[in-house]
Amino acid sequence: MALGQAAGWQQSIKYDMDVHLDVNTHILSGEQRVSYTNNSPDTLKKLFIHLYFNAFKPGSMMDVSCRSTENLIVGKSRSGAAVTDFDNRFKKRIADMQPAEEGYCHVTQFTVAGKQQKITEQETILVVELDKPLLPGGTLQYQLAFKEQVPKLSRRSGRDSDEGIAYSMGQWYPKLAEYDQEGWHADDYISREFYGVWGDYKVNITLDKKYKLGATGVLQNAAEIGWGYDKEGTPLKPVNGNLRTWKFAAKNVHDFVWGADPDYKHITRKTTNGPLFHFIYKVDSTQENKWQLVADTCAIIYPYMAKTFGPYPYPCYSVIQGGGGGTEYPMATMVRNNSFETIVHEFCHSWYQMMMGSNENAYAWLDEGFADYAEAKVLAWLRKNDFFEGAEEYRSYFMLARSPFNEPMSTPANFFETNLAYNVNSYYKGAVFLRQLGYIVGEPVMDEILLEYYHEWRFKHPTPADFTRVAEKVSGMELKWYKDLMLYTTKLSDYAIDSLWERNDSTLIRVRNLGDFPMPIDVSLQFKDGSKALHYIPTNLTFAAKTTDAPSASPFVTHQPWGFVYPTYELAVPGKLTNIVEIEIDPTGRLADFDRKNNKLTLNW
Ligand SMILES: [Zn+2]
Repeated sequence: MALGQAAGWQQSIKYDMDVHLDVNTHILSGEQRVSYTNNSPDTLKKLFIHLYFNAFKPGSMMDVSCRSTENLIVGKSRSGAAVTDFDNRFKKRIADMQPAEEGYCHVTQFTVAGKQQKITEQETILVVELDKPLLPGGTLQYQLAFKEQVPKLSRRSGRDSDEGIAYSMGQWYPKLAEYDQEGWHADDYISREFYGVWGDYKVNITLDKKYKLGATGVLQNAAEIGWGYDKEGTPLKPVNGNLRTWKFAAKNVHDFVWGADPDYKHITRKTTNGPLFHFIYKVDSTQENKWQLVADTCAIIYPYMAKTFGPYPYPCYSVIQGGGGGTEYPMATMVRNNSFETIVHEFCHSWYQMMMGSNENAYAWLDEGFADYAEAKVLAWLRKNDFFEGAEEYRSYFMLARSPFNEPMSTPANFFETNLAYNVNSYYKGAVFLRQLGYIVGEPVMDEILLEYYHEWRFKHPTPADFTRVAEKVSGMELKWYKDLMLYTTKLSDYAIDSLWERNDSTLIRVRNLGDFPMPIDVSLQFKDGSKALHYIPTNLTFAAKTTDAPSASPFVTHQPWGFVYPTYELAVPGKLTNIVEIEIDPTGRLADFDRKNNKLTLNW
């Protein structure tokens, strides 16, 4: 699908799986028939396969890494209590798991053309040494059998969640690692999320007939199952024997999730020119109205999202109650409860991760930061709030910058020293990257960049350089400096009003750069007669100036660019100094200015 496109090449895969879950023992056994096409120019002698459930046992790397965060104090709460680095989304300490509560996933057989291949398990990664290498352009058919125990829910997946969901099945099956221009991505499962090969999934799940399912994809045997999958409101159909098989299929996705519970309820919503939404949640009369409202609201926001981020390309999307927080998957999300904000955030991941499929271990911010930004845009539109006002992301970013825990955003996800640094970088600094980019290029251009990114890069695993290149082409500005400083450094901007004086009929305002992260500068002036003006100093680094902006920033007067090595800039504005009553650097608050106290000057003449 991507051959000959800008990404050059990418691998492709087809999974055909039959799994059986015993709901008494929580043992799942399954078979995979996989067809893997090597579109790379390389000969592959090995394969790497993720076995995520092996993380959920005492002493695993996930357990040790999670325990190391329990006593590390990274801040104080509003009440002054110490805040540790522990990720509260861990619902059960892995260290406390009894053997029956642990997870495991073992591949018991791995064959190519009926011949067993050499396999070695290294905790959450299975290494397969192929008898015959997979040549460039070749397709490998392999078959594997696996057996796993579904762990007690700790983080993201497992059984018996706090909300009483029986099975939350995310990152649950042997999944081939991605091979791209950088080679294999055999990342251990320590706590971060995933990167996968796009392909087609057919998954047949057999379990006790009382259980009801939500999953990635479209239910293929809806007529046989009923339960709202054939028509809204139909009951679960009777079946002979104790077991029932649910057959799901999804095209062009890079993962597959499912949830199962005997007490699930299923409602749907249609959207205008968009997907059918499924909401699958635990029957609870106290929550019913909330779920109905959330479902209605999802249908309302979809047209705005399609217009702003590009149309959703799949036929349906399932919001499945389960997991330990909110986690995104292709064509589905697993959410702990009906928090509308979380559901919007997870649905935004359908664009920024499920359609882009960026390497989340390398660039978590392309996924979390973008989803955070998109969520804020959707919520501001829905609630008619000002998108620019009081953006929390800046506060979190500065909080980390002031702490001793700061690390560059480019740190690979598994290697951040703290959850704090990972979270703030990937969610908040990632969102600041986009909000501040809007300040540099102008908001209408920022909106165009997002749409162009969708058109150019969906289904192709873009990198930060690919996104930045889109931003450059759409804006006509040079922007690599911005990407590089944001990613590879912890540099910060701090601009200040330094001094003022009059010369002839002009006022001179000296602006000083106290930080080490150069940026273009908006300066607003307020005059005695109540009028206002906006003066814009481009940076030399962009080799172009923004021509349009919002909010309240236009019209503006564009000045000569500021060569970034100069510590000060003299801004000349017409009129006497005593006409000015207020001067402010960055009145829209989009510049990530570390110290805003020196940004504003009020003059009492
Ligand atoms: Zn997210």
